[in-house]
Amino acid sequence: MRYDMHVHLRVESDADIDKYEMYARMARLDIVGFVIHYNERMGKRALRDYRDSVESMGIRALAGLELYYPFSTLPTGFDFYIIHFSDITVDADVLEKLKGVIIAHPFSYGMKIDPSSFEIMRKNGIAVECNSAHFYLGLSDFYARLKEIDIAIPFGSDAHSPEEMGAGMEDLMGCFSPYGTVASYLGIQ
Ligand SMILES: [Zn+2]
Ligand SMILES: [Zn+2]
Repeated sequence: MRYDMHVHLRVESDADIDKYEMYARMARLDIVGFVIHYNERMGKRALRDYRDSVESMGIRALAGLELYYPFSTLPTGFDFYIIHFSDITVDADVLEKLKGVIIAHPFSYGMKIDPSSFEIMRKNGIAVECNSAHFYLGLSDFYARLKEIDIAIPFGSDAHSPEEMGAGMEDLMGCFSPYGTVASYLGIQ
């Protein structure tokens, strides 16, 4: 099952929706996980409109949010949540309060992961993204270790336009987990 769990959605007209559908088919993606950058001032209406756009698509699409850490509460009603950390060492204390989320682009934006995180990742069902826009060879050992200890690794391209969906997927097939594993780990329907 080919999928991309990190596609930034920007819709100004129905034509934009058509474009996402067309490029998803061209990239042969069975499932597209869309996100928008969430902030606490966003109104309920904007969030609902976003959800509606995703649900109106003629492809299998999920509605997710990308949240900058720290945030006060996780808004409910979305299919998945990606957490963007910057300038922080993520450890067991940081992860303790998070459940069923995805850590975005590890080791980017000055973010590090302390080994004390691994145990709590498994306990709290926290997955770690394999992001093709932020990947470098030095990360291969890190992903191999995550696989060894059964942490799910969703693939994400961090596409900011329809054309970029699924970019880099073929190259990284050996690093990330199949969609089925990711979905059951995160409790995605
Ligand atoms: Zn990000
Ligand atoms: Zn992003």
